[in-house]
Amino acid sequence: MTCVPIGSIGDARRRPARRSSMEKKDIDWGSLGFAYQHTDYSYVCNYKDGEWGEGELTPDHSIVMSECAGLLHYCQEVFEGLKAYTTEAGDIVCFRPDMNAERMYDSAQRLCMPPFPKDRFVDAVEQVVKANAAWVPPFGSGATLYIRPFMFATGDVIGVKPADEYQFRILVTPVGPYYKGGVKPVKLQVPEFDRAAPHGTGNIKAGLNYAMSLYPSVLAHQAGYADNLFLDPQTRTYVEETGGANVMFVKPDGNLVVPQSFTDSILPSITRRSLVQVAEDLGLEVEQRPVKFDEIDQFVECGMCGTAAVISPVGEIDYGEKKVVYGMEHVGPVMQKLRETLTGIQSGAVEDKHNWVHKIDVE
Ligand SMILES: *Cc1c(COP(=O)(O)O)cnc(C)c1O
Repeated sequence: MTCVPIGSIGDARRRPARRSSMEKKDIDWGSLGFAYQHTDYSYVCNYKDGEWGEGELTPDHSIVMSECAGLLHYCQEVFEGLKAYTTEAGDIVCFRPDMNAERMYDSAQRLCMPPFPKDRFVDAVEQVVKANAAWVPPFGSGATLYIRPFMFATGDVIGVKPADEYQFRILVTPVGPYYKGGVKPVKLQVPEFDRAAPHGTGNIKAGLNYAMSLYPSVLAHQAGYADNLFLDPQTRTYVEETGGANVMFVKPDGNLVVPQSFTDSILPSITRRSLVQVAEDLGLEVEQRPVKFDEIDQFVECGMCGTAAVISPVGEIDYGEKKVVYGMEHVGPVMQKLRETLTGIQSGAVEDKHNWVHKIDVE
Protein backbone atom coordinates (compact mmCIF):
# COMPACT_ATOMS: atom_id res chain seq x y z
CA MET A 1 0.00 0.00 0.00
CA THR A 2 1.33 3.42 -0.91
CA CYS A 3 0.30 6.11 1.49
CA VAL A 4 0.97 9.10 -0.70
CA PRO A 5 0.64 9.49 -4.45
CA ILE A 6 4.31 10.34 -4.90
CA GLY A 7 3.94 9.94 -8.64
CA SER A 8 1.98 13.16 -8.82
CA ILE A 9 4.73 15.42 -7.49
CA GLY A 10 5.55 16.79 -10.92
CA ASP A 11 1.96 17.77 -11.52
CA ALA A 12 1.65 19.34 -8.10
CA ARG A 13 4.71 21.45 -8.73
CA ARG A 14 3.52 22.70 -12.08
CA ARG A 15 0.00 23.49 -10.92
CA PRO A 16 -0.35 27.16 -10.00
CA ALA A 17 -1.15 27.70 -6.32
CA ARG A 18 -4.89 28.20 -6.23
CA ARG A 19 -5.35 30.11 -3.03
CA SER A 20 -2.34 32.32 -3.11
CA SER A 21 -0.03 34.12 -5.45
CA MET A 22 2.90 33.18 -3.22
CA GLU A 23 5.72 31.39 -5.05
CA LYS A 24 6.75 28.05 -3.58
CA LYS A 25 10.43 27.47 -2.88
CA ASP A 26 12.24 25.53 -5.56
CA ILE A 27 12.57 22.25 -3.68
CA ASP A 28 12.28 18.66 -4.89
CA TRP A 29 9.58 18.00 -2.25
CA GLY A 30 9.33 14.27 -2.91
CA SER A 31 12.98 13.59 -2.13
CA LEU A 32 13.15 15.57 1.11
CA GLY A 33 14.19 13.52 4.11
CA PHE A 34 13.63 14.20 7.80
CA ALA A 35 16.40 16.73 8.40
CA TYR A 36 16.43 20.30 9.65
CA GLN A 37 16.83 23.14 7.21
CA HIS A 38 15.98 26.62 8.28
CA THR A 39 13.18 28.51 6.57
CA ASP A 40 12.50 32.26 6.33
CA TYR A 41 11.16 32.83 9.83
CA SER A 42 10.89 31.40 13.31
CA TYR A 43 8.56 32.70 16.00
CA VAL A 44 10.00 33.87 19.29
CA CYS A 45 8.54 35.19 22.55
CA ASN A 46 10.31 35.84 25.83
CA TYR A 47 9.07 35.56 29.40
CA LYS A 48 10.53 38.10 31.81
CA ASP A 49 9.44 39.93 34.97
CA GLY A 50 6.55 37.53 35.42
CA GLU A 51 4.96 37.90 31.99
CA TRP A 52 5.12 36.82 28.38
CA GLY A 53 6.20 39.51 25.92
CA GLU A 54 4.52 40.40 22.62
CA GLY A 55 6.21 37.76 20.51
CA GLU A 56 7.42 38.21 16.93
CA LEU A 57 8.64 36.53 13.80
CA THR A 58 12.39 36.49 13.39
CA PRO A 59 14.73 35.59 10.51
CA ASP A 60 17.39 34.74 13.12
CA HIS A 61 17.61 30.99 13.67
CA SER A 62 20.26 31.05 16.39
CA ILE A 63 19.82 31.48 20.11
CA VAL A 64 22.32 33.25 22.33
CA MET A 65 21.95 32.71 26.05
CA SER A 66 23.72 32.66 29.37
CA GLU A 67 25.98 29.73 30.21
CA CYS A 68 24.02 29.53 33.44
CA ALA A 69 20.58 29.20 31.79
CA GLY A 70 18.25 26.79 33.60
CA LEU A 71 17.83 24.80 30.39
CA LEU A 72 21.48 23.80 30.39
CA HIS A 73 21.66 22.64 33.99
CA TYR A 74 18.27 21.43 35.16
CA CYS A 75 16.65 20.61 31.82
CA GLN A 76 13.63 22.86 31.91
CA GLU A 77 12.54 22.26 28.33
CA VAL A 78 9.29 21.07 26.76
CA PHE A 79 8.27 20.78 23.13
CA GLU A 80 5.55 19.91 20.66
CA GLY A 81 5.38 18.54 17.15
CA LEU A 82 2.74 19.05 14.48
CA LYS A 83 2.66 19.69 10.78
CA ALA A 84 1.19 22.04 8.20
CA TYR A 85 0.36 20.69 4.77
CA THR A 86 -1.69 21.45 1.70
CA THR A 87 -5.08 19.79 1.20
CA GLU A 88 -6.47 18.61 -2.09
CA ALA A 89 -8.51 21.84 -2.26
CA GLY A 90 -5.31 23.88 -2.01
CA ASP A 91 -5.73 25.09 1.57
CA ILE A 92 -2.84 25.23 4.02
CA VAL A 93 -3.97 23.53 7.21
CA CYS A 94 -2.71 21.89 10.37
CA PHE A 95 -4.28 19.19 12.49
CA ARG A 96 -5.76 19.95 15.94
CA PRO A 97 -3.23 22.61 17.01
CA ASP A 98 -5.42 23.36 20.05
CA MET A 99 -4.48 19.92 21.37
CA ASN A 100 -0.78 20.70 21.07
CA ALA A 101 -1.39 24.02 22.85
CA GLU A 102 -3.09 22.21 25.68
CA ARG A 103 -0.49 19.49 25.99
CA MET A 104 2.36 21.98 26.01
CA TYR A 105 0.53 23.92 28.71
CA ASP A 106 0.40 20.76 30.85
CA SER A 107 4.02 19.85 30.07
CA ALA A 108 5.22 23.32 31.11
CA GLN A 109 3.32 23.22 34.39
CA ARG A 110 4.87 19.88 35.30
CA LEU A 111 8.37 21.39 34.90
CA CYS A 112 7.51 24.60 36.81
CA MET A 113 7.65 26.70 33.66
CA PRO A 114 5.15 29.50 33.00
CA PRO A 115 2.74 27.96 30.46
CA PHE A 116 2.37 29.76 27.15
CA PRO A 117 -1.30 30.85 26.74
CA LYS A 118 -3.16 28.33 24.57
CA ASP A 119 -4.81 30.88 22.27
CA ARG A 120 -1.46 32.57 21.73
CA PHE A 121 0.09 29.20 20.91
CA VAL A 122 -2.39 28.62 18.08
CA ASP A 123 -1.97 32.22 16.91
CA ALA A 124 1.83 31.82 16.86
CA VAL A 125 1.55 28.60 14.84
CA GLU A 126 -0.64 30.45 12.34
CA GLN A 127 1.77 33.38 12.12
CA VAL A 128 4.85 31.27 11.54
CA VAL A 129 3.15 29.02 8.97
CA LYS A 130 1.77 32.04 7.12
CA ALA A 131 5.20 33.69 7.06
CA ASN A 132 6.68 30.48 5.66
CA ALA A 133 3.84 29.60 3.29
CA ALA A 134 6.33 29.22 0.44
CA TRP A 135 7.86 26.33 2.41
CA VAL A 136 4.60 24.40 2.83
CA PRO A 137 4.85 21.47 0.41
CA PRO A 138 2.20 21.15 -2.30
CA PHE A 139 -0.60 18.60 -2.13
CA GLY A 140 0.37 15.22 -3.49
CA SER A 141 4.08 15.53 -2.67
CA GLY A 142 3.69 13.58 0.58
CA ALA A 143 5.93 16.18 2.21
CA THR A 144 4.83 18.47 5.04
CA LEU A 145 6.05 21.51 6.93
CA TYR A 146 7.05 20.17 10.33
CA ILE A 147 6.26 22.62 13.14
CA ARG A 148 8.29 22.39 16.34
CA PRO A 149 7.11 24.67 19.17
CA PHE A 150 9.43 24.53 22.18
CA MET A 151 10.09 26.36 25.39
CA PHE A 152 13.09 26.51 27.66
CA ALA A 153 14.58 28.27 30.66
CA THR A 154 16.90 31.12 29.70
CA GLY A 155 17.21 32.64 33.17
CA ASP A 156 20.29 31.94 35.31
CA VAL A 157 20.05 29.28 37.98
CA ILE A 158 22.85 27.81 40.01
CA GLY A 159 20.98 26.58 43.07
CA VAL A 160 18.31 24.05 42.11
CA LYS A 161 15.08 25.91 41.42
CA PRO A 162 12.91 26.97 38.50
CA ALA A 163 14.41 29.78 36.43
CA ASP A 164 12.59 33.10 36.17
CA GLU A 165 13.13 33.77 32.46
CA TYR A 166 12.04 31.62 29.53
CA GLN A 167 11.80 31.59 25.78
CA PHE A 168 8.95 30.14 23.71
CA ARG A 169 9.94 29.51 20.13
CA ILE A 170 8.59 27.82 17.02
CA LEU A 171 10.81 26.57 14.24
CA VAL A 172 9.42 25.10 11.04
CA THR A 173 11.21 22.92 8.52
CA PRO A 174 10.00 21.04 5.43
CA VAL A 175 10.21 17.26 5.73
CA GLY A 176 9.67 14.48 3.23
CA PRO A 177 7.07 11.71 3.19
CA TYR A 178 7.50 9.34 6.13
CA TYR A 179 7.20 6.29 3.90
CA LYS A 180 8.93 6.60 0.59
CA GLY A 181 8.29 3.19 -0.88
CA GLY A 182 4.92 2.45 0.72
CA VAL A 183 4.04 1.50 4.28
CA LYS A 184 6.07 -1.41 5.64
CA PRO A 185 5.71 -3.19 8.99
CA VAL A 186 8.57 -2.73 11.45
CA LYS A 187 10.05 -4.78 14.32
CA LEU A 188 10.14 -3.66 17.94
CA GLN A 189 12.04 -5.04 20.87
CA VAL A 190 11.35 -4.82 24.58
CA PRO A 191 14.48 -3.24 26.10
CA GLU A 192 16.06 -3.71 29.51
CA PHE A 193 15.64 0.00 30.16
CA ASP A 194 12.69 2.24 31.01
CA ARG A 195 11.95 5.56 29.31
CA ALA A 196 10.23 7.09 32.33
CA ALA A 197 9.84 6.62 36.07
CA PRO A 198 6.53 5.57 37.66
CA HIS A 199 4.56 8.79 38.23
CA GLY A 200 7.49 10.72 36.76
CA THR A 201 7.49 12.75 33.55
CA GLY A 202 6.59 10.09 30.97
CA ASN A 203 3.22 11.75 30.38
CA ILE A 204 4.63 15.13 29.31
CA LYS A 205 6.45 16.03 26.13
CA ALA A 206 9.86 17.03 27.43
CA GLY A 207 13.33 16.61 25.99
CA LEU A 208 14.44 14.94 29.21
CA ASN A 209 12.36 11.84 28.36
CA TYR A 210 14.25 11.56 25.09
CA ALA A 211 17.57 11.93 26.89
CA MET A 212 16.49 8.84 28.85
CA SER A 213 15.48 6.80 25.82
CA LEU A 214 18.34 7.65 23.44
CA TYR A 215 20.71 4.98 24.71
CA PRO A 216 18.21 2.10 24.48
CA SER A 217 17.10 3.54 21.13
CA VAL A 218 20.64 3.36 19.72
CA LEU A 219 20.95 -0.21 21.02
CA ALA A 220 17.64 -1.15 19.38
CA HIS A 221 18.73 0.28 16.04
CA GLN A 222 22.06 -1.55 16.26
CA ALA A 223 20.15 -4.78 16.84
CA GLY A 224 17.99 -4.17 13.75
CA TYR A 225 14.82 -2.89 15.43
CA ALA A 226 12.88 0.22 14.46
CA ASP A 227 12.25 1.15 18.10
CA ASN A 228 11.79 -0.10 21.66
CA LEU A 229 8.49 -1.09 23.18
CA PHE A 230 8.81 0.02 26.81
CA LEU A 231 7.11 -1.83 29.64
CA ASP A 232 5.55 -0.18 32.67
CA PRO A 233 8.43 1.02 34.84
CA GLN A 234 6.91 -0.28 38.08
CA THR A 235 6.25 -3.96 37.45
CA ARG A 236 7.68 -4.42 33.93
CA THR A 237 4.73 -6.60 32.98
CA TYR A 238 2.46 -4.19 31.04
CA VAL A 239 3.21 -2.63 27.66
CA GLU A 240 3.37 1.16 27.50
CA GLU A 241 4.68 2.83 24.36
CA THR A 242 7.74 3.19 22.14
CA GLY A 243 10.35 5.95 22.39
CA GLY A 244 8.25 8.39 20.40
CA ALA A 245 4.90 6.79 19.57
CA ASN A 246 1.93 5.23 21.36
CA VAL A 247 0.84 1.72 20.40
CA MET A 248 -2.50 0.02 19.79
CA PHE A 249 -3.57 -3.54 19.12
CA VAL A 250 -6.38 -5.30 17.27
CA LYS A 251 -8.20 -8.30 18.73
CA PRO A 252 -9.18 -11.28 16.56
CA ASP A 253 -12.76 -9.92 16.50
CA GLY A 254 -11.49 -6.72 14.86
CA ASN A 255 -11.91 -4.46 17.90
CA LEU A 256 -9.22 -2.18 19.30
CA VAL A 257 -7.17 -2.43 22.51
CA VAL A 258 -5.25 0.67 23.58
CA PRO A 259 -2.73 0.40 26.45
CA GLN A 260 -3.30 2.64 29.45
CA SER A 261 -0.64 3.36 32.04
CA PHE A 262 -1.32 2.87 35.73
CA THR A 263 1.93 4.72 36.46
CA ASP A 264 1.05 7.78 34.30
CA SER A 265 4.02 7.16 32.07
CA ILE A 266 2.46 7.13 28.59
CA LEU A 267 2.54 10.36 26.60
CA PRO A 268 -1.01 11.37 25.56
CA SER A 269 -0.57 11.13 21.78
CA ILE A 270 -2.96 13.33 19.82
CA THR A 271 -2.85 10.85 16.93
CA ARG A 272 -3.79 7.99 19.25
CA ARG A 273 -6.69 9.93 20.78
CA SER A 274 -7.89 10.88 17.29
CA LEU A 275 -7.63 7.26 16.09
CA VAL A 276 -9.69 6.07 19.07
CA GLN A 277 -12.41 8.52 18.00
CA VAL A 278 -12.11 7.42 14.36
CA ALA A 279 -12.37 3.76 15.43
CA GLU A 280 -15.52 4.51 17.41
CA ASP A 281 -16.96 6.45 14.47
CA LEU A 282 -16.29 3.40 12.30
CA GLY A 283 -18.27 1.28 14.76
CA LEU A 284 -15.34 -0.47 16.45
CA GLU A 285 -15.27 -1.13 20.16
CA VAL A 286 -12.25 0.36 21.90
CA GLU A 287 -10.87 -1.02 25.17
CA GLN A 288 -8.53 1.41 26.89
CA ARG A 289 -6.90 -0.45 29.75
CA PRO A 290 -3.56 -1.73 31.05
CA VAL A 291 -2.34 -4.44 28.66
CA LYS A 292 -0.02 -7.20 29.87
CA PHE A 293 2.92 -8.11 27.68
CA ASP A 294 1.84 -11.73 28.16
CA GLU A 295 -1.43 -11.16 26.34
CA ILE A 296 -0.15 -9.40 23.22
CA ASP A 297 0.30 -12.72 21.38
CA GLN A 298 -3.50 -12.98 21.41
CA PHE A 299 -3.81 -9.88 19.24
CA VAL A 300 -3.71 -9.95 15.44
CA GLU A 301 -2.40 -6.47 14.58
CA CYS A 302 -0.26 -3.83 16.22
CA GLY A 303 0.50 -0.27 15.21
CA MET A 304 2.56 2.65 16.49
CA CYS A 305 0.88 6.03 16.28
CA GLY A 306 2.19 9.57 16.19
CA THR A 307 2.15 12.72 14.09
CA ALA A 308 5.01 11.66 11.83
CA ALA A 309 3.53 8.49 10.30
CA VAL A 310 -0.04 8.50 11.71
CA ILE A 311 0.19 4.70 12.02
CA SER A 312 3.26 2.53 11.47
CA PRO A 313 2.29 -1.14 11.40
CA VAL A 314 4.29 -3.35 13.76
CA GLY A 315 5.04 -6.76 12.29
CA GLU A 316 6.97 -8.32 15.16
CA ILE A 317 7.78 -7.69 18.83
CA ASP A 318 10.72 -9.50 20.45
CA TYR A 319 11.39 -9.82 24.17
CA GLY A 320 14.47 -11.94 24.79
CA GLU A 321 13.67 -15.38 23.42
CA LYS A 322 10.00 -14.63 22.96
CA LYS A 323 8.83 -13.46 19.54
CA VAL A 324 5.31 -12.20 18.87
CA VAL A 325 4.65 -12.05 15.13
CA TYR A 326 1.81 -10.11 13.46
CA GLY A 327 3.28 -10.33 9.97
CA MET A 328 6.10 -8.46 8.28
CA GLU A 329 4.64 -8.82 4.79
CA HIS A 330 1.48 -6.77 4.88
CA VAL A 331 -0.42 -4.12 6.83
CA GLY A 332 -3.39 -5.53 8.78
CA PRO A 333 -6.85 -4.50 7.55
CA VAL A 334 -7.89 -2.64 10.70
CA MET A 335 -4.70 -0.56 10.93
CA GLN A 336 -4.99 0.12 7.20
CA LYS A 337 -8.59 1.29 7.52
CA LEU A 338 -7.82 3.53 10.51
CA ARG A 339 -4.82 4.99 8.75
CA GLU A 340 -6.72 5.66 5.51
CA THR A 341 -9.58 7.26 7.39
CA LEU A 342 -7.46 9.60 9.48
CA THR A 343 -5.17 10.58 6.59
CA GLY A 344 -8.35 11.04 4.53
CA ILE A 345 -9.75 13.44 7.12
CA GLN A 346 -6.43 15.30 7.11
CA SER A 347 -6.29 15.67 3.33
CA GLY A 348 -9.95 16.54 2.92
CA ALA A 349 -11.00 13.29 1.21
CA VAL A 350 -13.04 12.14 4.24
CA GLU A 351 -15.58 14.33 6.07
CA ASP A 352 -14.04 16.14 9.03
CA LYS A 353 -17.00 15.84 11.36
CA HIS A 354 -15.11 16.74 14.53
CA ASN A 355 -13.60 19.92 13.07
CA TRP A 356 -10.03 18.73 13.49
CA VAL A 357 -8.55 20.32 10.39
CA HIS A 358 -7.52 23.89 11.15
CA LYS A 359 -7.29 26.15 8.12
CA ILE A 360 -4.64 28.86 7.98
CA ASP A 361 -5.58 31.86 5.86
CA VAL A 362 -2.57 32.70 3.77
CA GLU A 363 -3.73 35.77 1.93
C1 LIG B 1 5.13 13.07 20.61
C2 LIG B 1 5.07 11.71 21.19
C3 LIG B 1 4.09 10.77 20.80
C4 LIG B 1 3.11 11.02 19.68
O1 LIG B 1 2.22 12.04 19.94
P1 LIG B 1 1.40 12.73 18.77
O2 LIG B 1 0.69 13.83 19.44
O3 LIG B 1 0.46 11.71 18.24
O4 LIG B 1 2.37 13.16 17.74
C5 LIG B 1 4.07 9.56 21.45
N1 LIG B 1 4.96 9.25 22.42
C6 LIG B 1 5.93 10.11 22.80
C7 LIG B 1 6.88 9.70 23.86
C8 LIG B 1 6.01 11.37 22.20
O5 LIG B 1 6.98 12.21 22.58
